[in-house]
Amino acid sequence: MNHLERKKLKKSMSLVFKQIIQLRDNNICQRCGKDVSNLGRIVSHLLPKSIYQSLAFEPKNAILTCHKCEAFWHISPIESFRFLEKEFPKLLKHLEYRRTEYGIHKVTDSQLFEIQKKLDQLLIKEKRKSCHR
Ligand SMILES: [Zn+2]
Repeated sequence: MNHLERKKLKKSMSLVFKQIIQLRDNNICQRCGKDVSNLGRIVSHLLPKSIYQSLAFEPKNAILTCHKCEAFWHISPIESFRFLEKEFPKLLKHLEYRRTEYGIHKVTDSQLFEIQKKLDQLLIKEKRKSCHR
């Protein structure tokens, strides 16, 4: 894939990824508990996707937040980390493991295609679950 094709693929994948997180988190901000279905909602990455590219599309590395809580995330990284330690200790442990497993290497094209397949399957699963709520 050339640079442009990769960019396009990542863009469409991130749309699918957002849908998955929205469905999974039931339109509730995972930090303040506000219903964000009619407010702006954002998918926040716990470990930054700019550095940990292999975790950019990892559902465990993302939570749904409102705009206010998303800002907090970036303004207060230390407090954010404490919040994560307290609320999502298992998640952090998993991410730590994944971080050492994959490091900060760039994701290859074939890895990207594999992740895309997984995301499509996950979206179907989350849609099915949300129908039964
Ligand atoms: Zn919030």
